Amino acid sequence: MTDPISSRVWNNLICSYCGHGLEKIKDGAECTACGLQYKYTKSGALDLRLQRPKNYPLDFELGTPLLPNGGFQFDPLQTNPAPEVDFSGVSVPRHLTKEILSYFPRAKSKDSLMLDLGCGDAIHKQISEHAGFEWVGLDYEAPNAQILGDAHMLPFKDKTFDFILCITVMQYVRFPFVMMREINRVLKPGGKLIGTVAFLEPSHGTSFYHHSHLGAHNLLRYGGLTVERLAPSETWSSLKAQASMGMFFKMPRALAQAIVFPLELLHKLWWLGGSLVTRKPLENTRIRHFTGSFTFVASKPAE
Ligand SMILES: [Zn+2]
Repeated sequence: MTDPISSRVWNNLICSYCGHGLEKIKDGAECTACGLQYKYTKSGALDLRLQRPKNYPLDFELGTPLLPNGGFQFDPLQTNPAPEVDFSGVSVPRHLTKEILSYFPRAKSKDSLMLDLGCGDAIHKQISEHAGFEWVGLDYEAPNAQILGDAHMLPFKDKTFDFILCITVMQYVRFPFVMMREINRVLKPGGKLIGTVAFLEPSHGTSFYHHSHLGAHNLLRYGGLTVERLAPSETWSSLKAQASMGMFFKMPRALAQAIVFPLELLHKLWWLGGSLVTRKPLENTRIRHFTGSFTFVASKPAE
């Protein structure tokens, strides 16, 4: 069997427990410092998840303003007027809108690595390669992941990646502030993070924290990132999310959404009435407060 992990990626792997480098052994990897061994799973993924509890100290700076001077526009995502990658003719997973794709970075060199954090069924591999990256798929448990790992303790050296994609992952993370510190650590200066996070979706699977716009902004800033866009989904409303994912469990999605359509229409009309009465545009406020999820585009400041 050919090794699914390239030598370039091997060179950037570390022991998730002690942070030292790994050496290839017959059926996996061994830490050069603490001697812990990591094995391949039956599906062929290298299992670099934590094998024993670990302390991860964090600090918080209190009393600092959350938003930059002049505030922040939490409006729906508009297409980037200067996209770096042309995805026309490429098969794209349905959840990645053309607006999100327009923010995808192009790989700076043929050595550029991107991390698909929470890669699931590896559905972002093709588009990542189209953008010129070597795709590295990590998940806590997914049969098609290259590497099994923990978002709280990413098994990669500092400054490994030029780009991290994190689609509907944050809500599943038990200690999201730890994850953000890890994302910052493994991103190169100038590297980019793009992702989505649940807001008013019903609790699903093992979701812990669903984020409002301020919560997501706070988390990204805590990770030392510059928030470029933090945008509510216009189409994935809380009513659609609730209907599809909870209220009418197992019902065909189109039927569930048709049931809440009249209520959604009434809700929009009510807010439209409000904007006429107050003479203020309220549509973006409405979308922000009732969206099912947010999309974020952030970057690590250059050194
Ligand atoms: Zn070790």
